[in-house]
Amino acid sequence: DNPRLESELLLAGAAYCFIRPFELNALANRLVLISDWSENTTFKSQEKADSDLEIIISDIMQILDTRIFGTTEEDIRKGAEILRDGGLVAFPTETVYGLGANGMDAEAAGKVYAAKGRPSDNPMILHIADRKDLGCLTDKVTADMETLMDAFWPGPMTMVVEALPQVPRVTTGGLDTVAVRMPDHPVALALISESGVPIAAPSANASGRPSPTSGQHVLDDLNGRIHAVVMGDNCQIGIESTVIDMTGEMPMILRPGKLTAEDFEKAMDI
Ligand code: AMP
Ligand code: MG
Repeated sequence: DNPRLESELLLAGAAYCFIRPFELNALANRLVLISDWSENTTFKSQEKADSDLEIIISDIMQILDTRIFGTTEEDIRKGAEILRDGGLVAFPTETVYGLGANGMDAEAAGKVYAAKGRPSDNPMILHIADRKDLGCLTDKVTADMETLMDAFWPGPMTMVVEALPQVPRVTTGGLDTVAVRMPDHPVALALISESGVPIAAPSANASGRPSPTSGQHVLDDLNGRIHAVVMGDNCQIGIESTVIDMTGEMPMILRPGKLTAEDFEKAMDI
């Protein structure tokens, strides 16, 4: 229903086929992803629509040679370097495989939305490896937050906190709050800490598809759309983290997940 989108896609498709005639199949997959994306996106303004389109069109024009890493120190070092350079690296966590990008770099974070076909107003969770890194994201750390971090980090708890101005609004889906989590997985922690930046990492699947619990699932969806995948074990939990809003007077669960309301009540002694 969007003539501008249609004509842009036709143009991009024609140019693409001219350059890489043998990758028609991959192109078809991408167009399906993009049409899903456009259906799920409410354009807030023409300007935003234009910038979203630009990201997507430029994305269609390239098929990446997705590198496959193991979990050796050398592999983690290479993966971290790609993240620091603004690339996309999928990696295992204890919940599901995440699609990582430097969450403090708006351009890198924008690539995650394009690769997944994720609506750009769906905020991402930033992953940290050390509690002191919370200080780059927020300056409001309350006693309740300390209690929950003591109880559940590293682990499947994501806290929504007030965001400092330096947290790109691309990462937060335009919000002035940001979601943060410390995953309980040695490979995820090593990669995040080696990269030296908070890592935005939604599940490493194309939007609308099931969350991946193995490296192979990631490749099934995103091969050619991301720079690398770190192949680790299959994920233990397979259920997303529980998202809890810490910006109000009382903590409030925004998204159910592995941890339940009872788990939080017990930890907070209420
Ligand atoms: P995921 O798709 O698993 O990466 O989880 C992202 C989800 O976390 C979003 O869809 C929201 O439900 C939630 N979320 C992330 N950031 C925020 C935020 N700043 N405020 C409220 N919810 C958030
Ligand atoms: Mg998901």
